[in-house]
Amino acid sequence: MRKEGSKSDNMSLRVPPPQSLREALKVPDRYMFGPGPSNVPPRILEAGARPVIGHMHPEIFEIMSDIKSGIQYLFQTQNKMTFAVSGTGHSAMECAIFNTVEPGDSVLTAVNGIWGERAAEMAERIVSLYHLTISQALSKHRPALFFLAHGESSTGVLHPLDGIGQLCHKYNCLFLVDSVASMGGSPLHMDQQEIDILYTGSQKVLNAPPGTAPISFSERACRKISSRKTKPLSFFLDFNWLTNYWGCDDKPTRVYHHTGPVTAFYSLRESLAVLCEEGLEASWERHRTVAEYFHAGLENIGLKLFVKDKQVRLPTVTTIIAPHGYDWKEITSYIMRTHNLEISGGLGPSAGLVLRVGLMGCNSSRTNVDMVLSALTDALQHCHRSKV
Ligand code: PMP
Repeated sequence: MRKEGSKSDNMSLRVPPPQSLREALKVPDRYMFGPGPSNVPPRILEAGARPVIGHMHPEIFEIMSDIKSGIQYLFQTQNKMTFAVSGTGHSAMECAIFNTVEPGDSVLTAVNGIWGERAAEMAERIVSLYHLTISQALSKHRPALFFLAHGESSTGVLHPLDGIGQLCHKYNCLFLVDSVASMGGSPLHMDQQEIDILYTGSQKVLNAPPGTAPISFSERACRKISSRKTKPLSFFLDFNWLTNYWGCDDKPTRVYHHTGPVTAFYSLRESLAVLCEEGLEASWERHRTVAEYFHAGLENIGLKLFVKDKQVRLPTVTTIIAPHGYDWKEITSYIMRTHNLEISGGLGPSAGLVLRVGLMGCNSSRTNVDMVLSALTDALQHCHRSKV
C-alpha cells in the first residue's frame, strides 16, 4: 500500500533564502579599544579555528582540565569548583546568583555603576549602599550574598577588595565579585581575599572571543549550594550539572548536560596559555604603567578623567569626562570613521557623561595609547564644538 505523503510535502516555501546570504561574509579589521570585546590576536583566533570534535571526547576533557588549571592560576585559587560557563559574563553572573540565592534570602549589592544595578535586578531584592557602610548594611540586613564589581566598566572605578571578604564572613554572608573588566589587568587573589564566588569574561584582558565565562566557587559557597531546599531557577546554569560536566565533582562519570562550545574552549585555553606565559604579575604591572601613561596623556591634551582619585581608577577601562561643548556621539563616530578605532560612550549611570576607552590584554601598550591620543586630538579639532 502506498504511504500517504505528509501534508507538508505539498506545501511550497513561502520564505525564500535571503539575498544577503549570497554575498560573502564581510568582517572589517578594527582597533577594538572600547570596553570590550578587545582584539583577538592571531594565535588565539587560530586556536578557535581548529576542527570541531565531540564535546564529551577525552581530548576535550583534557582541554577543559587545562582551562580549569589556567583559571585557578588566573584567579589565584585552589578551589576545585572552578570551570567556565558556556555564555558571556551575564551567564556567569546568573550562575553565581541563581545557585546561591533561594527564595527568602536577601542579597546586598554595592552600586558603583550599572553592574551593581544589574546584579540587583537579577537577585530581585536590592539594598543599596548609598548611606550605609558595608559593615552597617551587613549587620542590618543579614544578606546571604554580597555582590561587588571589582572593575566597574561603566564608571571606570576599581573597587578595593581588601578586608571585605573577612567582613562578609563575620556576618555569614558570601562574597561575590564580578571581575569581568578587571581580571588579569589588576591584582586580585581569590583565596587570600576570601572571595566566595568570582567570575570573569573571555573577551576583555584574556583577548578571546566573547562566549565563555570563567567562574570559581569556594567551599563556603558550595556548602550554601548543597544546603538548598529548592532547585536553582535555571537548569542550564545549575551548579551541580555544570560541575559534573567539568569533572569537578569527582564522580566516575560525566553526564551530558549541554553541548559545550568546543571551539570557544580552544580559544579560551590559548588565551590562558598566553597569560601564563607573560605571568600575572607582569600583566598587572603592564596594565598599570600603560594606564598611567594614558591618563597623563589625556590630561596633556586637555581632557579630564571621570574618576578623580588615582587609587581607584580602573587600569583596563578609562572613563573620560565627555568634553564640554561636544556631542560625544560625534566624537566616537568620527574616530571610528577616520581612524577605524572603537571607543565608546557611557553606559547606565554614566551614559552621556563620559567616553570610555578600554586597553586590555594585548591592546594595553604605549603604541596603542599614542594612537588613541592622536585620534582624540584629531576628533577635538574636527568635530563640531558649540560656543555655549
Ligand atoms: N560585568 C562587567 C564589569 C562588565 O564590564 C561586563 C561587560 N561589559 C559584564 C559584567 C557582562 O559581560 P557580558 O557582556 O560578557 O555578558
